[in-house]
Amino acid sequence: CTAAALVVRHRMKNCGKWTRAMNILKEFEEKCKTPVEKLKQVADAMTVEMHAGLASEGGSKLKMLISYVDNLPTGDEKGLFYALDLGGTNFRVLRVQLGGKDERVVRQEFVEVAIPPHLMTGSSEALFGFIAEALAKFVEEEGDGYHPVSGRQRELGFTFSFPVRQTSIASGTLIKWTKGFNIEDTVGQDVVGEITKAMEKIGLDMRVAALVNDTIGTLAGGSYYNDNVIAAVILGTGTNAAYVERAHAIPKWQGLLPQSGEMVINMEWGNFRSSHLPITEYDQALDLESLNPGEQIFEKMISGMYLGEIVRRVLCRMAEEAAFFGDVVPPKLKRPFILRTPDMSAMHHDTSPDLRVIGSKLNDILEVSNSPLPMRKIIFELCDIVATRGARLSAAGIYGIIKKLGRDIPKDGDKQKSVIAVDGGLFEHYTKFRNSMESSLKELLGDEVADNFVIEHSNDGSGIGAALLAASHSQYLGVEES
Ligand code: BGC
Ligand code: MG
Repeated sequence: CTAAALVVRHRMKNCGKWTRAMNILKEFEEKCKTPVEKLKQVADAMTVEMHAGLASEGGSKLKMLISYVDNLPTGDEKGLFYALDLGGTNFRVLRVQLGGKDERVVRQEFVEVAIPPHLMTGSSEALFGFIAEALAKFVEEEGDGYHPVSGRQRELGFTFSFPVRQTSIASGTLIKWTKGFNIEDTVGQDVVGEITKAMEKIGLDMRVAALVNDTIGTLAGGSYYNDNVIAAVILGTGTNAAYVERAHAIPKWQGLLPQSGEMVINMEWGNFRSSHLPITEYDQALDLESLNPGEQIFEKMISGMYLGEIVRRVLCRMAEEAAFFGDVVPPKLKRPFILRTPDMSAMHHDTSPDLRVIGSKLNDILEVSNSPLPMRKIIFELCDIVATRGARLSAAGIYGIIKKLGRDIPKDGDKQKSVIAVDGGLFEHYTKFRNSMESSLKELLGDEVADNFVIEHSNDGSGIGAALLAASHSQYLGVEES
């Protein structure tokens, strides 16, 4: 064997490996395709399910939950309120001093606390106990500049970002957990009851004045600053949307028609599914092995908890069937959820000619120290395919809402732009995802109609939103300060 022959053989072997990996990639790309016609079918299916979910309880996979929010903040909200935001891997506690129309948010403060992973799958008592402790600690540190009215009970807006069947503005039972939470004894319980019990147990005297989903909080927070907000979308660990519906268009609503004639609906769109979705074998396997098989299918194709995991699964296949990483599959690669979406995002935004961010992520996360350029390029493409599909599907969801509201047709005269308030880490930090979502929505709406809409980042609107809703549902409304 001459040295030259060895080099050639080595090249051929490598070339074979990249070709095989490319074949897996191309096949995956084909199945992930989201041409605009397909997105329109997804959007149409979404509006059909919206109607069905509004018609009757259990009428659709889309639960279209009634939020009991029939008035959005006006700006008049006043006083000291707390908010608790539970929904991802962290929870936040906020203290907000509202000063009314002119002063608005006078002061605010928050702390963020990581939830120990074992509490996400433990007992209800342990989780809510932990949260109440953190809240009590925060309340104790209530400092200067805040004005609690003496003798009054502190009030809390509770943002609880899971599907809840509300029974009033301040009560509701958990339908199921999502996003890596799985605590059986909370399901079917009133979550306000759970947190109230935990607060009482440690002697924290506080009342939950409003229980809201993060989409509802974001809608409320967004509306506080802009009257033209019609919907809110979360693109974070999970995904979901809420929008303002005409009360008349909610046949399943049994109560009195609200004076405003409107009701905010929490769609729980994460649970949407349709035969039009471009579902691959990787999505199916991910779903089967998840904490909630068969549930949250739309969410599993879009949200931050899952995008990196989809990439990992395709890489596993390439490793096993194309020896993508050499003769052995990197042991770390076999670990579910080891590739997080923020890492995927960093790789996808790598602009260096030798893709060195991808190289160092492979090294740090998977302990793959030798990553030739062709390998890095394939990984870059893979991230692009997964992120683009998710972003475009989320745009289709928004387009579905716009269609349901009949705002997808050009109108002239009215120059007010409708605002969609969006929040969540995926939207905030994954620039390519965000850009792709926004351009896909334009593509769906067409230039003329697209001009009527603005996507606005509502930064942490859900915390403020919950405090605002606590204020407008305070037990002391109309009671003079003494
Ligand atoms: C939950 C929704 C929530 C969304 C975004 C989903 O998993 O079901 O209630 O709004 O995540 O946080
Ligand atoms: Mg944020």
